[in-house]
Amino acid sequence: MADVGFIGLGNMGGPMAINLVEAEHSVTVFDLSQVACQQLRERGASVASSAAEAVVGVDYVISMLPAGKHVADIYLGDAGLLSKLDGSVTILDCSTIDAATARRVGEAAVKSGIGFMDAPVSGGVAAATAGTLAFMCGGDAATFEKARVILKDLGKNIFHAGPAGAGQVAKGCNNMLLAIHMIGTSEALEMGARNGLDPKVLSEIMLASSGRNWSLEVYNPYPGIMDDTPASKDYQPGFMVDLMVKDLGLAMEIAQQCDIDNAMGQLAAALYRQHQQSGNGKRDFSSILQKLQNDSSA
Ligand code: NAD
Repeated sequence: MADVGFIGLGNMGGPMAINLVEAEHSVTVFDLSQVACQQLRERGASVASSAAEAVVGVDYVISMLPAGKHVADIYLGDAGLLSKLDGSVTILDCSTIDAATARRVGEAAVKSGIGFMDAPVSGGVAAATAGTLAFMCGGDAATFEKARVILKDLGKNIFHAGPAGAGQVAKGCNNMLLAIHMIGTSEALEMGARNGLDPKVLSEIMLASSGRNWSLEVYNPYPGIMDDTPASKDYQPGFMVDLMVKDLGLAMEIAQQCDIDNAMGQLAAALYRQHQQSGNGKRDFSSILQKLQNDSSA
């Protein structure tokens, strides 16, 4: 069992840290929120008074923070964790951040002789709680082997996407595709419904045909077709529109950097931004069906 320093105990990091405690790792946590720290203390973690204190003598540092600036602040600079760690430590940053910051922190870690992986996740709070996250890792092969030892207690599918930053690129590609097929699925279902088809029957037809995709299979955006989907619970998240807009912003940065004309991705990002600006940020991303319904009946 390993000594782990865990930083960032929010909606995702909290249940991930609990899973590590339950897998009998020795976990020391830190978050700016006292409430979040107290919840982990009650589940058997030690609580540190700073990020620097949380990583003293550990084998792994795991961070789950909101954005690139938080990750850069924690690791880089004179007061950053990289200046306090040595080559015996493996750092796994599971936050969803821009690929450029992931590369910058990864390169600085390598210069200090420390193993670093960007390891963003797919799967929301439910998967974090169940320990079924998918990890997309960017870093060298030796660090990936060390990462697997601990990530297997947090997730089901652990992929080595490539060098530093590749995990964030994989995540950006996946979420851009997710946004596009959720919108496409919503358009197809609404078009069928307006032509008198039962959306449930149409879903079954497309599931058995070439339109089959993840949104249809497990996350149907039409209310009442599947039990337990956000669509059947007034679009309670799930995966919030705010987070989809954040992830699409990161995906658009990746696209700009490689100069691709990703017309579908740009349109999906614009539609989700409009949906967010209409007050739907805290609703599930499958509520994009309602934007389509409202816009076209206006
Ligand atoms: P969150 O806002 O609930 O949690 C972030 C936590 O980081 C907060 O508890 C905050 O206090 C803490 N924090 C911020 N700065 C800190 C610092 N300097 N030191 C210590 N703690 C600090 O966010 P979340 O939903 O847990 O998401 C975390 C990351 O996971 C994000 O990058 C997000 O994009 C990604 N993600 C989220 C989901 C989801 O469904 N929520 C799914 C996949 C990926």
